[in-house]
Amino acid sequence: MVTTVILGMLCVYLLCFCVMFMLISTRLADKKMGMDVFALGNLLLGLAYILQLFGGAPGWSAISVINHTLTLCAPVTYVLGAMRFFERPTALLRPLLTLAATYTLAQALVQLWLGNEARHALLAGACALLFLLMTLVALYGSRTFAKDLRVEMLVIALLIGGIGALNAAKFAMILGGGMASLDMNGGFQKVFYLYMSFLATVLPPCAVWLVLRRLTDKLRSLAAHDPLTGLLNRRGLMDALSAHFRSRSAEPAFLLIVDIDHFKPINDTYGHQAGDRVLCHVADVITATARQGDLICRLGGEEFVVVALRSDSTGVLQLAERMRAAIEKLEVPDLSRGQAIRCTATIGVSEQFASVQAFDECLQQADAALYRGKKAGRNRVEWVLVQGA
Ligand code: GH3
Ligand code: MG
Ligand code: MG
Repeated sequence: MVTTVILGMLCVYLLCFCVMFMLISTRLADKKMGMDVFALGNLLLGLAYILQLFGGAPGWSAISVINHTLTLCAPVTYVLGAMRFFERPTALLRPLLTLAATYTLAQALVQLWLGNEARHALLAGACALLFLLMTLVALYGSRTFAKDLRVEMLVIALLIGGIGALNAAKFAMILGGGMASLDMNGGFQKVFYLYMSFLATVLPPCAVWLVLRRLTDKLRSLAAHDPLTGLLNRRGLMDALSAHFRSRSAEPAFLLIVDIDHFKPINDTYGHQAGDRVLCHVADVITATARQGDLICRLGGEEFVVVALRSDSTGVLQLAERMRAAIEKLEVPDLSRGQAIRCTATIGVSEQFASVQAFDECLQQADAALYRGKKAGRNRVEWVLVQGA
């Protein structure tokens, strides 16, 4: 009786969370992060347990066969959902239908040759292996493809490991004690379905939490980056700069403003889209020329800011000169006219600074140096101290 109530509750959890996953996936529109597949997994498992509730004795019957097939297909569906969450898109219906057909056939053969006990042992053994594999992949993921979700992956590995161990125990019990060990009023079945209820309650909020983390990370990244070039925007630069100066080993930095010369005529001659491509190419050149760890930002229009970290005045001037020369060499193909668009840039360099508060002043210094560079003929590097010396 107790186990039947637990099983009933389990069905309710699974179907409620199925609806919740479905609702979330409709909100996520084009990028569903596997939520729709998780909903399908919950539906399959929910149906399997409904069949178990109303199917009667665990003997050979169509209901029992469908129940076993659904019970095995559900965790495989979760795996496919997880693959979509981790951006490894995969087919859904074909592998599931193939698995369902193969496993139904396997059940019939095992029932025919080895009997009902063996068919139940087959399900417990297959689930134990599958959950063990899922546990290992979650552990592997915590160190590789899901490093940013390390704690979450370890918790998930632990939870899935538990159901894997229970299935392994069920497998051993069926082999040792036969069908009697599957008595719904027995202690083992109570523990088994209690743990399943616990999983069905805890895992869906875990999945929602993972989606929430990915979404907020994405929002933060969108708010910090320029959509055209993918570089930091001003807000992203300020955040990165604050993080840099907060670290104990933070060294002073230099600020460079890179402004493309006569950019308006490029737009006027080749069109705005070609102008956009020039901006992207210049952004790539700046990124390739800067050193690892330097902060690169598109301040707006055709102006870029580079914050050079771990450098001295000689090094930063060399860096600015390398950037200027690299932009001068750049050739952006003009798709309509079949000729290359070329451009130059003027670079203004600030004094060294060591705090976020000094950023605005350094920006003004670099801007003043840039202005002098423009007046002096463009395509050159100007440093605030050189002028002041
Ligand atoms: P200078 O050598 O003095 O810097 O001249 P300039 O033409 O580069 O500078 P100006 O400030 O006169 O013009 C900047 C132009 O940049 C004007 C604007 O239309 C263009 N612009 C700003 N943002 C974008 C953008 O996102 N895409 C494109 N294609 N053009 C942009
Ligand atoms: Mg300009
Ligand atoms: Mg400008």
